[in-house]
Amino acid sequence: MRRLNVRPAQIDECIQNSRFALSFRPKTPELRQGELLLLQLVKADAVRLGKVRERINFALVFDRIEPDPDGRLSRLYWPTEHRVWPWIVHCSMTIPTVPFSLEYLPLAANDKYQGQDNARYIDPHDEQWILPFIRWSLGETPAPYLDSIPTATMVQKFGQPHTLAAIYNHDRIARQRPISKRKTVVEEFVRNEWLAASLKVYYEHRCQICGKSFLPDYGVELADAHHIHYVAQGGPDVSSNILVVCPNHHRVIHATDAHFNRDNLAYEYPNGFQERLILPDHFVYEGQLGYNV
Ligand SMILES: [Zn+2]
Repeated sequence: MRRLNVRPAQIDECIQNSRFALSFRPKTPELRQGELLLLQLVKADAVRLGKVRERINFALVFDRIEPDPDGRLSRLYWPTEHRVWPWIVHCSMTIPTVPFSLEYLPLAANDKYQGQDNARYIDPHDEQWILPFIRWSLGETPAPYLDSIPTATMVQKFGQPHTLAAIYNHDRIARQRPISKRKTVVEEFVRNEWLAASLKVYYEHRCQICGKSFLPDYGVELADAHHIHYVAQGGPDVSSNILVVCPNHHRVIHATDAHFNRDNLAYEYPNGFQERLILPDHFVYEGQLGYNV
């Protein structure tokens, strides 16, 4: 595992192309395929943005490193940077994290991870503190078995705001990397069941329309995830397109072909009846908590 320093403006580029440039080729040890590269906001930017405790929101999965001796690739990949790097790092995917900062974890070698240099090696002994924040289930190729904190206990472990922040980090990756780039299969509509599962956990399996929870009376957590704009019809698989609803409301929405009004966060039924969401959090907070900077 390594720590990279990135400026806010570079993050979308990193996410979109899973690519990074380095001035030095990391040695002792060399980069290994599958190794996690933590994208950490540069300290000064983190201070400016009020994100000192939330400097890391994404990790890249290392694939290969390529020399760029004459700068041709640097100019091709980063035409507006007007500089070149001797090494280009290609990654296979981007994984969202629950926001965290290395300096607030009890890492044995924390002093070593500070500074402006890049691809700083993280001692394997310290990885145990970092891995719980990596949300493999919300990654481009969901790998829930790699999550050390299961989706079901995310809220207990990280709290509601940071669970929602991880969901928004997923959304940012999904928007940067359109489905056509991720998969060429046309017949299959790509949706991440763990995104829906994370939202259900966030709302404690309550219906966002009526607030119903089945747990007290029936002893089961029962909630559906409804895509407002159906994925099969080109709707994006991001949280702003998903509602957590009880089975009753799910059936009613489909049976009446109800319309979701985003301006007042209400479902409008053809007979004129309207229901506003009583649990609208993830529509309300998006872009307001500063998580998507
Ligand atoms: Zn309901």
